[in-house]
Amino acid sequence: MECPKYHRWNFQEVFNYIKSFGYELLSTEYKGINTRIKIKCPQGHITEKSFNGFLSGYRCLKCCGSEKHSYEYIEKKFIENDLTMRMGTWNGTLTMGFGMQIIPNFRFDYGYYAGDLVKEHYVGGHYTFD
Ligand SMILES: [Zn+2]
Repeated sequence: MECPKYHRWNFQEVFNYIKSFGYELLSTEYKGINTRIKIKCPQGHITEKSFNGFLSGYRCLKCCGSEKHSYEYIEKKFIENDLTMRMGTWNGTLTMGFGMQIIPNFRFDYGYYAGDLVKEHYVGGHYTFD
């Protein structure tokens, strides 16, 4: 007996599921739940995410009121101040991180990954020798 939790979606099912939320599947193939697919939201934003992410409710970030600027804008802004930031979905899990240039040859990086079961933090420092 097949457990519905591990149901293997086929292209048509994914297409119909996405469509039922008013979204459009632009990718012409579906390779698996964690493989990125191209989706167009009801407002016309085109986004790439895993179907797993879509199922978890991570649909269109641009439609979310909190995201007024694109990543590129935010990243550029912080780079100008020697601080970089990143947020996004990676294989359907949440990824956040930032990096900061503390002194000209030392930078600090922090990353956070929130998966379904695994939660891990990453902290790194990079020292550059001239
Ligand atoms: Zn949107």
